Amino acid sequence: MNLEEKFFYMPDTNDNISFLTEQLFAQQTSSWQLAATNYKGLEKTLVRELNIGGAHIIIQFNPERILSSVAEIDEKSISKRKCFLCPQNLPAEQQGIPIYGDFLILVNPYPVFQKHLTIAKMQHTKQSIAQNIGTMLDLSATLTDYIVFYNGPRCGASAPDHLHFQAGNKGFLPVEKDFAEMKNRLQIAKYKSVEISFAADYLRRMISLQSNSKNDLLEAFAKIYDTLSTLQPHEQEPMLNILCYADNDSWIMHIFPRTKHRPTQCSATDANKFQISPASVEFGGVFITPRDKDFQKLTTEDIIDIFDQITTDKTDFEKIIHEINQIK
Ligand SMILES: [Zn+2]
Repeated sequence: MNLEEKFFYMPDTNDNISFLTEQLFAQQTSSWQLAATNYKGLEKTLVRELNIGGAHIIIQFNPERILSSVAEIDEKSISKRKCFLCPQNLPAEQQGIPIYGDFLILVNPYPVFQKHLTIAKMQHTKQSIAQNIGTMLDLSATLTDYIVFYNGPRCGASAPDHLHFQAGNKGFLPVEKDFAEMKNRLQIAKYKSVEISFAADYLRRMISLQSNSKNDLLEAFAKIYDTLSTLQPHEQEPMLNILCYADNDSWIMHIFPRTKHRPTQCSATDANKFQISPASVEFGGVFITPRDKDFQKLTTEDIIDIFDQITTDKTDFEKIIHEINQIK
């Protein structure tokens, strides 16, 4: 396959990527049937909203997400399927905008957001964040109308074998507003220009970084990553989900350390079963339920319990805060 066939447009350095992305979005949702149908369907999506002690949660009924919520991501299943993010396997109608020479901005045909992108590496290489956090910062500085997110290989990525980020339009994930409101009540540490804050009782535990210096953020992230690795020495990377966006002149990054991939409700065979697969979007405050009965049934108590099972535990979080307070 000629890779360039997949390029919607070949930008040069002066082109405005945000503008081109809007063009791509308009083109794909009008001429690619699958995307057109699913984005149209999303407009009619039912939602429920909860406020759990100041933590806002949206529950979205989204039947098209059933595939990703049940995706088998063990090595055997992965090796048996064609990788759906490799350029040669993309649907004929799908095109993207090349960026940084080796990533492709694509419209996600199974949206959760009104505008939902996947930014995939052009080469087949495994999902990992340590070497790619800089790309995540660059993407959020470029796609200023979007929140960029990363799901770890055992934390909700349905293609753990192929490096990718996703991005969704700002103004949808409750964490944006929640964080702005609770920020001045949080415990804060400082590393160079980076403000690091810790949310210990936000249903899930969250470490937030804010700075206008990419270099300082990269250094702070590396130190936090090392701390998390020490707590999970057997994982290929510490279990985490990350959200990142640019706000005025600074970046805001939320890191959600985890202990578990899927809560017990996923494997239950009785009335306690919920078909969900918590990842960055859920940690951002939006629960996706592909089945109507789960959408109707999910309660405040279920959400508290689900977060409780998958977020890093209290003792580890205290260790993390202690370690991060030591970093120089
Ligand atoms: Zn691939």
